[in-house]
Amino acid sequence: MAQLSDDCFAFGGPLMPLDDMIALLSARLQPVEGTEVVPLVKADGRVLAEDIHAPFSLPAFTNSAVDGYAVRGADLPSDGERTFTVAGRLQAGAKAEKSVMPGEAVRIFTGAPMPEGADTVFMQEDARIDDRGHVILPSGLKRGANMRPAGEDIAAGQLVLETGQRMRPQDVAVAAALGLAQVTVRRRIRVAVLSTGNEIVAPGAPRGPAQLFDSNRFMLMAMLARLGCEVSDLGMLGDDRAAIAGGLKEAAAGHDLIITSGGVSTGEADYVRDGVESVGSLVFWRVAIKPGRPVAMGVIDGTPLIGLPGNPAASFVTFVCVARPALLALAGARPQTPPPMPVRAAFTYKKKEGRREYVRASLRKAPDGSLEAVKFPREGAGLLSSLVETDGLVELGEETTRVEPGQTVAFLPYSGLF
Ligand code: AMP
Ligand code: MG
Repeated sequence: MAQLSDDCFAFGGPLMPLDDMIALLSARLQPVEGTEVVPLVKADGRVLAEDIHAPFSLPAFTNSAVDGYAVRGADLPSDGERTFTVAGRLQAGAKAEKSVMPGEAVRIFTGAPMPEGADTVFMQEDARIDDRGHVILPSGLKRGANMRPAGEDIAAGQLVLETGQRMRPQDVAVAAALGLAQVTVRRRIRVAVLSTGNEIVAPGAPRGPAQLFDSNRFMLMAMLARLGCEVSDLGMLGDDRAAIAGGLKEAAAGHDLIITSGGVSTGEADYVRDGVESVGSLVFWRVAIKPGRPVAMGVIDGTPLIGLPGNPAASFVTFVCVARPALLALAGARPQTPPPMPVRAAFTYKKKEGRREYVRASLRKAPDGSLEAVKFPREGAGLLSSLVETDGLVELGEETTRVEPGQTVAFLPYSGLF
């Protein structure tokens, strides 16, 4: 599972800028090897391991876009009305057997193939039938109206889905429309998750007076599952150097990535960094972001490890900023996150230059209909309510030092991140 080499890409400076860290991750993390063929019903969320070209054009045949009457363009009345004899009826799925002759209209339904000779369809709402059963059609329609030419959607041979695409429902649909019953995808990446700390206990277990329930592990596992990973729940480890070192070494075997929470700061009981150094090597452990400055990356027996801080909001933000790009790189997924949305700040904020900050915020509609970001009133990295009660993160660049109400800021909705 060697995705990362142990060599000299350790960062010399005190805090690594986020962009440098992401460049480093994407340069060094190779997609896992191994693909599998999955039926389309299992393809949603999987990372495509093949380019898909259209074997034929879509639509495959020119067809009617409405229920109505198909006629020859040359017969369109230039003004007034014109009466046509009705020469046949074509429902969706039927084969157009004979050509439409001058003066003839064919009763046609949505999706039915256009009969030879016809290139224009009148909507049935615009047609009248006279007492002889002829159809009377008005003027004013453009030649070519209400029909869907073959290939107007996708041309035969066109590249439709690219390797690295994380399949969305619409991607599954286009594969189906092209007649594919299965697609080749990368295997899911295997991620081990564990929490550290003497103070944490599993939900459901008895909790001592100075203990708290382990919430990070469940948050991380849920995010990983949404990102299509195969997750191993490795539980919790106490703040014990040997136990953490041993646990990490064990986790490295059989996984493509290890994600831990807690124990990466400079406290005396922060053993994750120590642990990585004793059984592998540390790549970096401080990134210039807030919340979440202490976030470690290391390599153990070729398996990358990302050590997230213990405070839940810091864990969340560093997962999004550091772990997510790493695991998408391992999964072989092309970066597909839409750029942040520009919204108006409805808050004042001061920050230090030189680090990227993520401010938890909710969106609301301003009286003029535009969107405003409202900052969560408190800033603690330990506040779970700050995640639960907000819609996303306002991203403030390294150079920003102040935000004033009305200023345009970049907003990352949570819904776009998983
Ligand atoms: P640490 O990063 O280990 O210094 O942890 C910082 C704080 O995060 C701790 O004091 C806990 O309050 C909290 N914390 C650590 N681990 C977890 C966890 N697994 N779930 C929820 N909170 C945690
Ligand atoms: Mg701790």
